[in-house]
Amino acid sequence: MESTEKLNFIEEIIEQSIASGEPRVHTRFPPEPNGYLHIGHAKSICLNFGLAKKYGGKCNLRFDDTNPVKEDVEYVDSIKEDIRWLGFEWAEEHYASDYFEQLYAWAVELIRKGLAYVDDQTQEEIRLGRGTVTRPGTESPWRNRSVEENLRLFAEMRDGKYKDGEKVLRAKIDMAHPNMLLRDPLMYRIIHANHHRTGDKWCIYPMYDYAHGESDSIERITHSICTLEFDVHRPLYDWFIEQLGIFPSHQYEFARLNLTYTVMSKRKLLQLVKEGYVSGWDDPRMPTICGFRRRGYTPESIRMFAEKVGVAKRDNIIDIGLLEWCVREDLNRTAQRRMAVLDPLKVVITNYPEGQVEPVECVNNPEDETAGRRQVPFGREIYIERSDFMEEPPKKFFRLRPGGEVRLRYGYLIRCDEVVKDPATGEITELRCTYDPLSTGGGSSDGRKVKGIIHWVSAAHAVPAEVRLFDRLFATENPDEVPEGGTFLDNLNPESLTTVRAWCEPALAEAAPGEKFQFERLGYFCADPDSTAGKPIFNRTATLKDSWAKIAAK
Ligand code: ATP
Ligand code: MG
Repeated sequence: MESTEKLNFIEEIIEQSIASGEPRVHTRFPPEPNGYLHIGHAKSICLNFGLAKKYGGKCNLRFDDTNPVKEDVEYVDSIKEDIRWLGFEWAEEHYASDYFEQLYAWAVELIRKGLAYVDDQTQEEIRLGRGTVTRPGTESPWRNRSVEENLRLFAEMRDGKYKDGEKVLRAKIDMAHPNMLLRDPLMYRIIHANHHRTGDKWCIYPMYDYAHGESDSIERITHSICTLEFDVHRPLYDWFIEQLGIFPSHQYEFARLNLTYTVMSKRKLLQLVKEGYVSGWDDPRMPTICGFRRRGYTPESIRMFAEKVGVAKRDNIIDIGLLEWCVREDLNRTAQRRMAVLDPLKVVITNYPEGQVEPVECVNNPEDETAGRRQVPFGREIYIERSDFMEEPPKKFFRLRPGGEVRLRYGYLIRCDEVVKDPATGEITELRCTYDPLSTGGGSSDGRKVKGIIHWVSAAHAVPAEVRLFDRLFATENPDEVPEGGTFLDNLNPESLTTVRAWCEPALAEAAPGEKFQFERLGYFCADPDSTAGKPIFNRTATLKDSWAKIAAK
């Protein structure tokens, strides 16, 4: 490792254990297949897979599928696709459900050791019996059942003799423990439901706290990384492993990723999908990995973001502007330039011969020599952006004005001679201009300099496209902050999607879904999978505006 590099706290822990002769690094990413992955998961993926890669170790993908009610293969498949898209490959693929038999055997072992018991109390009774932070809990009347009775009842639970909620298996720890989670936590509950992998084989399912550490141990995970709110669970994680005397995996906690203007709980994202506030999990406004993909984000930009965010030990909220900065950085280097006009105003160049067409050579990407050049047709009628003309402009307006001159990107200088208006509405319908035939290659007939450059599209060759412009899905910085009686839905931004009909240069007609471009002066755009031959649809990934450069470069 380079000595100049600043290590995050998990890397420090790893390097200490390497120094003390334990070089093995084996991490895992453990999603519950109950929804699509979001940008918070991407952070965790980059961390877990990144550490394994950096230290020559391994990272497993483990589906934490212990709750049959909410889980589905659709989610399993999407999770795998998203991890691969981010650029990672797991060493081993596992399912907590594959360990059900082993977990059951260990539960039986704990019963035998007098460390677990079947409790007949209702959920409510158990809750009340747990006490409070200041008041110890009370022991369940079933706490001191004999080992034999517990073994029999637990076997009957497995055999389906009881209804949901009739009995649970609890660890026998300490009802007065200062950490509430250690007051005889649940290990198993009864759920008569079909599991997406084990079908109807099981009707008892292990709780997260029991299943997670044991699964880590089975896979001989060395660094089990999770988010901060699990730090209070760590003693329980350790307790089960110690009592069973199995491979000692260790849990480490880092701060979860929070982003401004974003909700990041699968439950809320599911609600947005189910109730139709967005078009699906991959709606380009969603903070899901598939949403970002459809929007035009690249895996590189998301990995760069995860790197910049770093690994914190305390909760914080990251400005979504940083993520936007990362995608601009990446696309600026890689996206080819094209011209498109989103809000067209027709320009007739009166001194240009009717019917004549000439090719204008355009640079595909000034940041990348190898991207080459392309030819864009130019003719007597073109479209320019309506906002690039002002009849009575303010002082610093360097674009087109009556009597003024502007350069067409990679093309001629044009002068505005006449503004044509609809007599009824007063709306400008057309500009009549003249061009300087000696002004190609950035020059002009008499050496005069013109400041403004605007993009354009030949009207005769323009390809119509649907362009989807996105604003933030939520109007407030912290959408989870809601006044009494409200919900996060109240913070939705009603103007998060605007659809316009744009005119594009001909090359864009064949844009393949997922292909990314910079539309000159407008931003980064990505062809949507809804595009059909000759009828492209583009999503705006990000605008060009870049107020974040200074902050992110720090
Ligand atoms: P959610 O609360 O959004 O449903 P979760 O934590 O329940 O998320 P899991 O599928 O259990 O979702 O998470 C898989 C892994 O991703 C866990 O290790 C979890 O800690 C991590 N993870 C989830 N959300 C974030 C986040 N916002 N930032 C960092 N890591 C996260
Ligand atoms: Mg979870």
